Amino acid sequence: MLEKLLLNFCLTVTLTYGLSLTFRGWPVPRQGREVQLRMALVSLLPIILMMFPVYLVPGVQADLRFVPIVLTTLLYGPLTGLLVSIPAMLYRVWLGGAGVTPALVSLGMLVLTAAAIRAYAGRSSHRETLGRVAWPWYVVAFAPHLLPMLLLLPNGAAIYQAVKLPLWGAEVVVSLLALSILEGRLRLLRLNHTLKREAAEDSLSGLANRRQFDADLPGLRPPDALLLLDIDHFKAVNDSLGHPAGDAVLSAVGHALPQMLRHGDRAYRYGGEEFAVILRGSGPDGAQATAERIRVTLSTLDVPELQGRPLTVSVGVGLVLQDAPLDALARADAALYAAKDAGRNRVALWTPDLKPAPAATGT
Ligand code: GH3
Ligand code: MG
Ligand code: MG
Repeated sequence: MLEKLLLNFCLTVTLTYGLSLTFRGWPVPRQGREVQLRMALVSLLPIILMMFPVYLVPGVQADLRFVPIVLTTLLYGPLTGLLVSIPAMLYRVWLGGAGVTPALVSLGMLVLTAAAIRAYAGRSSHRETLGRVAWPWYVVAFAPHLLPMLLLLPNGAAIYQAVKLPLWGAEVVVSLLALSILEGRLRLLRLNHTLKREAAEDSLSGLANRRQFDADLPGLRPPDALLLLDIDHFKAVNDSLGHPAGDAVLSAVGHALPQMLRHGDRAYRYGGEEFAVILRGSGPDGAQATAERIRVTLSTLDVPELQGRPLTVSVGVGLVLQDAPLDALARADAALYAAKDAGRNRVALWTPDLKPAPAATGT
């Protein structure tokens, strides 16, 4: 019996590990072919485990089929949990014997317990996080699923007395191992997701950063447009009110910008006190109108740290033409330079007769 239990144990851990490797992204996608394929695989795992059971008495088998079903329910909810357990249920019915009813009731109880834990754990934060509830509680919560064996089998109490130690041992060890494998994998994906996001984000303004801008720029096509915004006399803000006040202005502008944009458009902190905005399919008139709206709205922004000083920006509008997207950036830069040259607090649209900006933008 011990070898069979060990085999089931090893199989469960291996299959869980294999299953966890199919999670490639965070948040774990809830739809799509990849998920369907994974669910099809998961629904086979309990059957594989049931093929190597420990026979408690003839016709009553014990195995660790519940692990993949519980993990699926914890991740995707009771409906998916029930769906992936259907093949296992049918297989169990086909096997027959005195244990059919207890097995089905037990499986139903497991799915319900996992669904309850999921609802509880998901209340506070991420829905797809397992580790919100202390793990020992998982084991305690799942324990009642052994009751049907005791109550529904004719000689259930005697069987339980004979096998309770290996049964509980396997239950505790495998539950914790399977959960730790899955949680470890999800933690890794979560961390990866956070690092990716942080690498593309500017922490002060909350906007996408220069790295993200450089990645997005080559994707521009006519009639997209590019805005370059530069805060006017920003050095004077730092000099007279201090860097923290300057930072507060950058943060306020950064958090206000996305609210002025349409879905699909994106704002970036280009560097220092300069911001870039990519406008999709806007053309010259739309871009100029958006730039003007941004300029006016930012001039009314309430930043207490400015102590009543005016906040104005100059904006250069560069159109994306058939040439390289980098040329659109040069056009926006030239237009920004022209706006500064003409007295600041204004929008300038690039025209072919504009001379290029004298130096690269940056701060
Ligand atoms: P102009 O109207 O010509 O744009 O004048 P300006 O003073 O805004 O232009 P300039 O480029 O000379 O000054 C930009 C200043 O932005 C200088 C730099 O100290 C400041 N700066 C750049 N990054 C940050 C930052 O992260 N925080 C703060 N507080 N200041 C920054
Ligand atoms: Mg400036
Ligand atoms: Mg500048």
